[in-house]
This record gives sequence, structure tokens and C-alpha cells, in this order.
Amino acid sequence: MYKIEENPFLEVRASSIHGLGVFVLAELSARTYCLSYRGKLLDIAALDVLGDAQKPFLFQLEEGMIMDGSGFENPARFINHSCEPNCEVDYEDGVLRIYTTRMVEAGEELTFHYQLKPLEALNHPCRCGKPSCFGYMVGKEWKAEFLKLKSRLARGSREGKKALRINKINPDA
Ligand SMILES: [Zn+2]
Repeated sequence: MYKIEENPFLEVRASSIHGLGVFVLAELSARTYCLSYRGKLLDIAALDVLGDAQKPFLFQLEEGMIMDGSGFENPARFINHSCEPNCEVDYEDGVLRIYTTRMVEAGEELTFHYQLKPLEALNHPCRCGKPSCFGYMVGKEWKAEFLKLKSRLARGSREGKKALRINKINPDA
């Protein structure tokens, strides 16, 4: 457990969702700024994206950029995914800022939706435990595509296997 210097109302400690999580020490109202996701801004085109996308702490941005939050003072990397999150991430001028989307009570864990694409989501099952849990950290707009991919894999189709091979994904992970 440790206190976060940037925000004295938050602390990092063990989470029932996964590993460590970021917890609130005092009630926060909706639209409260919590933390920035710090890292190195990288161009997706310059990366072995499909391989590197499997690494933790990479935050994919809409604009074809990736924020690599490893190796930085970046407690926001401990914020877990939830299918019913209490935070969202705003991206502006190269900075990712995490805000609450509703009132958050003292003791609650901060979460946001990771919005993973289908291939990445295969390797990221969700254990958020919420009633609406989808079982994987897949973005809302990708759910239909994800289910199609899963059924192709279940049928053992050549197309499904090829997708796994290209993305170095272990379906049993
Ligand atoms: Zn979930």
C-alpha cells in the first residue's frame, strides 16, 4: 500500500479485481479530476503494435498514438478495468486525465473501461464482478466483432487460428 503524491485522496493497494488498484480515501463528487496517465507518447506505426499491444501499461489513443506508461512515475497504471466503471479518461493535448463519472464513496476502487479491441481483449478476461460484466475488457463498439471472433475460434476455423498466430495470442490465457 502506498499514498499517491499527486493526489492525497487516493492510495494504491491490493484489489479484488486484479493485482493492485487505486482506492479513494474520501468521497469524491462526479467529474472530479483524479490522476493523469503518465508515459511516453509513441506513434503506433513505429511499433510492433500487435506484439506490443499485449504488454501491460500501453494506453491506446484514438489518434493512432500509444501512451507507454511503464517505467514512469504513473500510479494511474494501477487503475483497473471495470464493465461498470466510475471513471473515464479524457485525452487532450497529449495528456490523459482521469475523472470520476459519478459520486465515488470513500473506500471504493477507481475503475475505467479499457475499451480493448477484439484481438487484445481475447487475452484480457474481466473479473470486475459487476452484474453486467461482459467477461472480457472489450470496447462496447467491438462486442459484436469480438463474439464473432470467439465463435470462429471455437469452431477452430483457419481464419481464427491465423488471427491468433499473427497476434501471438494464447487462447487459453
Ligand atoms: Zn467485467
